[in-house]
Amino acid sequence: MSAAPSLSRWTPQRATWRQAAFDDYALVVLALGGLVAVLWLAPFAVYRAITGNWLAAVSDAVLALTIGGAAVYAWRTRDTRWPGWIMAVAIVGGIWAIGVAAQFAALFWAYPGVLMNFFLVPAPAAALLGAAAVAGAALLSWQELGGTEGLPFFVITNVLTGVFGYLVSQQAQRRIVRWQTLSLLDPLTGVGNRRLMEVELAQAFTAAGTGGTLAVLDLDHFKAINDQHGHEVGDAVLRDVVAVAQACLRKTDRLYRLGGEEFVIWLPHGDQAAAAVVLERVRCAVRAQVRVGERAVTLSAGAATHAPPEAWEACLARADAALYRAKREGRDRLVWPLIDEGIPART
Ligand code: GH3
Ligand code: MG
Ligand code: MG
Repeated sequence: MSAAPSLSRWTPQRATWRQAAFDDYALVVLALGGLVAVLWLAPFAVYRAITGNWLAAVSDAVLALTIGGAAVYAWRTRDTRWPGWIMAVAIVGGIWAIGVAAQFAALFWAYPGVLMNFFLVPAPAAALLGAAAVAGAALLSWQELGGTEGLPFFVITNVLTGVFGYLVSQQAQRRIVRWQTLSLLDPLTGVGNRRLMEVELAQAFTAAGTGGTLAVLDLDHFKAINDQHGHEVGDAVLRDVVAVAQACLRKTDRLYRLGGEEFVIWLPHGDQAAAAVVLERVRCAVRAQVRVGERAVTLSAGAATHAPPEAWEACLARADAALYRAKREGRDRLVWPLIDEGIPART
């Protein structure tokens, strides 16, 4: 009767994590590109200028500045989206420029270029840019390539390099997303764990500023359920409570398992009255739908509406104090902080 963990509710975060996983690798590749720009391209630009090859000097300087600038920007902001595109396009432009200025050198640069692009831009774009780099290098260095004799080898080895880049970049992203999923979700119920709660509440409380309600929920006499029916039945109850509670929540509401049989609900929208409606709906639905034998499973809840500029920890502490009052007053109820409990001085 227990519900499967519902990971689909975390789709927005998963998309963010995928970007974060991409950023991790893109940042390294951008840094590598930055190093090449400073240590290789820039000195070459100077050398070409000294030897009077102005076309090569200008193209090397433009490349060094573009790639170096993108790398520095990404490193400082931790944002790799635009720098990734800029560097990927610069790589292709660079390979063409090298093909024009220095012919055969373009053939060698095609390989790292094709590989790096898979860590800088989405795979289809990386494939297209790689094809453009390979085509440009082959045409501009046709003689050095050995014409139609060398072409198949050049193309096939580049395709292999690209496939390798694609596989490794996809695999790396998938693994990082998986680790992040495992570290932020509760394995029993599939909802966010305490760590995810801390991250999301810290974001919500600084970004939103006003409003929102935090509630702490604790199942009543849960130890007795474990003692009388066994731990597995207890686990099934926890999963059922999550499934029932989630069905009562709106898309933007958040449910976390704090630990044991304690949960936190974050309702970012609406005033206290609106939050009370949602939380009472959760409490009544659990009471009506989650059973162990003949006995209804009930929960107690304490809720507090965010009073800016208090920190989320302070708001949670007020909700927690209200929860303990709910327990003392007889359980199976929702309790709000008393006016004279006030807002804790430590915010
Ligand atoms: P109260 O109404 O005062 O909250 O009483 P309670 O029995 O619910 O509270 P108590 O803190 O005494 O017991 C909580 C129990 O939750 C004890 C622990 O064995 C059980 N528990 C904690 N984590 C899990 C879990 O993952 N699965 C199961 N089945 N039980 C758990
Ligand atoms: Mg408890
Ligand atoms: Mg309890």
